[in-house]
Amino acid sequence: PLFGIDLAAPELLSGDVLERRAATFAEVQEHYYTEPPEIERGWREHLIDVHAQCYLDLVNNVALAGHAHPRLVTAVSNQWSLLNTNSRFNYSALPRFTERLVALAPDGLDTVFLVNSGSEAVDLALRLATTYTGNDGVLAFQEAYHGWTVGADAVSSSIGDNPRARETRPDWVHVIDAPHPFRGTHRGADSAARYLEDLEATLGALDDAGTRLAAFIGEPVFGNAGGVLLPDGYLAGVFEKVRARGGLTISDEVQVGYGRLGEYFWGVDQQGVTPDIITIAKGMGNGQPLGAVITRRDIAEKFAEEGSLFSSAGGSPVSCIVGLTVLDILHDEGLQENARTVGGDLKAKLLRLKGRHDIIGAVHGLGLYLGVELVRDLDTLEPASVEASEICEELLREGCIVQPTGDYKNVLKIKPPMNITTESVDFFVEALDRVLSARS
Ligand code: PLP
Repeated sequence: PLFGIDLAAPELLSGDVLERRAATFAEVQEHYYTEPPEIERGWREHLIDVHAQCYLDLVNNVALAGHAHPRLVTAVSNQWSLLNTNSRFNYSALPRFTERLVALAPDGLDTVFLVNSGSEAVDLALRLATTYTGNDGVLAFQEAYHGWTVGADAVSSSIGDNPRARETRPDWVHVIDAPHPFRGTHRGADSAARYLEDLEATLGALDDAGTRLAAFIGEPVFGNAGGVLLPDGYLAGVFEKVRARGGLTISDEVQVGYGRLGEYFWGVDQQGVTPDIITIAKGMGNGQPLGAVITRRDIAEKFAEEGSLFSSAGGSPVSCIVGLTVLDILHDEGLQENARTVGGDLKAKLLRLKGRHDIIGAVHGLGLYLGVELVRDLDTLEPASVEASEICEELLREGCIVQPTGDYKNVLKIKPPMNITTESVDFFVEALDRVLSARS
């Protein structure tokens, strides 16, 4: 087993194993970053380094509309020359942008707070939930990553991205099993029901201990694990149990929302549920610092009664104009549909590669949020972490930027700009095929 990890062991998620995962992470990072290219500029889904070498950017889900989109270049420079900040009065772009967001939001979520990043959005969402409910317990998934500010860090378990989380985690955070179809405790058709039974037991114990729930926070599709879909009906069950205890439900859509899944605009749509609070960032600003919390008016009003709603740069005129322009591009260039068709085509091609290369254990995800899970053995599913890191280096030499991710750093996460073309997708699939063939 890799670094002594026995995947079949029940203590898979114990502290001891997590320490060893941290070692895996350090080794993979050391390997992957031996000679990173120095990028000078970007164009659509391409990055160009100081030696004029061109790479396909398969990891940048922040550049939703690609790099250096002409409409964004013009919008930013125009808005900067007109008005770049206004912390005193309203400005015209603000209501225009928040109204557009509300029109896109799930029913009942009609109030928007604009902030500067995903981490800030998550911290604010947690504050809204604790203020509204008067409770302080928060449920979060094992393997989650929600950001690096104090609250977001506390609800993040991902050992790879966040090795300090467990040491610093406050007692209001309660970590629950992530229902991973590949690596979780339960597998198969009835796994949602079995995970929900486990959750009921955990919640029963929290009730007995006098813990009152403020919220559940989770990604509706597991981003950190490479776009793993939750079992059908699972999130509906979680929401029901949390609400029965007076808690709010927070869907962190920072990675998977905003049309990237192709078929669904929001990740929660894939599970058929409506949360009380949504957090978004990354692609909505295409790199301009911009995040948002979208929630119900009664939740927002309760918060407003208790404190300040002021962020100096959150939702600045430039951010609002960028946000509006990203939405225009998304609409005018049919980028959600592109994610559905080009992403669907990419997934089909990756599944064909799976048939030819045993190292591919699974292809997760939807649209342009995909994960190629690499394993050493198709029966034991032992993660091929170091191999994943080597493959990424080899892909870099082929002109493709891909990063190993997930708790074991054995998943090639594919989340390129949403205007990626079929031609670029084929370039990557052929490169991956060559790299894997050369290794076998
Ligand atoms: N939530 C999720 C699901 C994320 O993946 C991230 C960042 O990767 C964040 C929140 C934090 O966002 P930011 O990096 O903008 O602070």
